[in-house]
Amino acid sequence: MEDIELRTLPIHGVNTKISLDFSSYTQRALDQDLKELQEYQQLQGQRKAEDNDLKRVEPLLLTNVFPKNISIDEFKKKSADFFSQTMFHLFKEQTNLNITSTREFELHIKILRIPNRAFYFEYNNNESDDGLASFNGAGIWFLQTIVLPTYMSARIDYAIIARYFAHELVHHQDNMRGFLNLENKYLRKIKFIAKEKDRYALNYLYTSLTNLRTEGLADFNARSNSDYQEINNEGIHAYHENLKTLCAMQSKWKMTRFYVKTIGWENLTPSGEYSNGRVMCVTIALWLATLSKKEYFIRIGDVTITLQDILQKKYRMNKLFSKQQIIRVSLSREAFADAYTAISAVQSDKFIAYYEDACNYFRITEKDRVMTREQYAALVKTIEVAVKK
Ligand SMILES: [Zn+2]
Repeated sequence: MEDIELRTLPIHGVNTKISLDFSSYTQRALDQDLKELQEYQQLQGQRKAEDNDLKRVEPLLLTNVFPKNISIDEFKKKSADFFSQTMFHLFKEQTNLNITSTREFELHIKILRIPNRAFYFEYNNNESDDGLASFNGAGIWFLQTIVLPTYMSARIDYAIIARYFAHELVHHQDNMRGFLNLENKYLRKIKFIAKEKDRYALNYLYTSLTNLRTEGLADFNARSNSDYQEINNEGIHAYHENLKTLCAMQSKWKMTRFYVKTIGWENLTPSGEYSNGRVMCVTIALWLATLSKKEYFIRIGDVTITLQDILQKKYRMNKLFSKQQIIRVSLSREAFADAYTAISAVQSDKFIAYYEDACNYFRITEKDRVMTREQYAALVKTIEVAVKK
């Protein structure tokens, strides 16, 4: 049975539709999600959610009282109202996203019960086309992000909602450019070789390489309205160590668990591939901005470094990158747009080449670089050694 909440608004000449499909999400599913979320919150206790963690839950919810039950009709209406408001705003703002060439565009989300918050959103590349971006979405995300706050007189964090879709829509853009198909084709090839030669780690190594570009760019875009983007040197080093550990592993099962948990999408902290891919984007942005003299600021503690400081060599980028410290980069709108345009036009091989050019320009040492062709070759060697043992 069809059960769709639809909101429509013309934006920049495009009739924009937001549709939430609830036909697979029942009152029972909602009750289960509410219970699960409450248990999760109690378990988390007062543990402080990391600001960099995309999976974080609004801390306000920890202190307030959970409602006993929420009616499914209320849930649908509130979800659709608040979600579509944010999306309409996002489409108005994010003009860098060329998501459609048609006069009509629909963002469609099929709401599902996803136990254990295994994922929040999943892009359906096969169902999507120029006029339609199709996703599966977890009901529990709508519950914790939109509906619960309205019951607990807490603030709805619109920035978080927007951040998720500024991320997801980059995947749609990649798909419309045919990038996802090509990457999947190579992934299948690598998977086959990995299986043939018992070199399973190859598969994950290659996946991480392509994710640095796809998830990194999506994350870079998600933070386009943030005050700053962080570069965490320790995160880069931890990513290196985790890749080495992965490539020395023998058991296929252990590899899978390790990859998902410490390198892949379950790790949304500075050591994961999402953050590290974003760091590569920021580095490329700094390089392009320095070349074309577009404004940016770098903050380390109380010190603010400007484009002029870098041009006059008052500070050297390689020195800033080499210390165990957190660097906060604020790009001007123009600097962000230049980097986004350049990176979104290329795939992972060219992306790595851009990044190497950026690092060479700033003379950043190899150990402080997230990923290079040299590092990739060394990791493949580690796999060879592990297999021969
Ligand atoms: Zn993603």
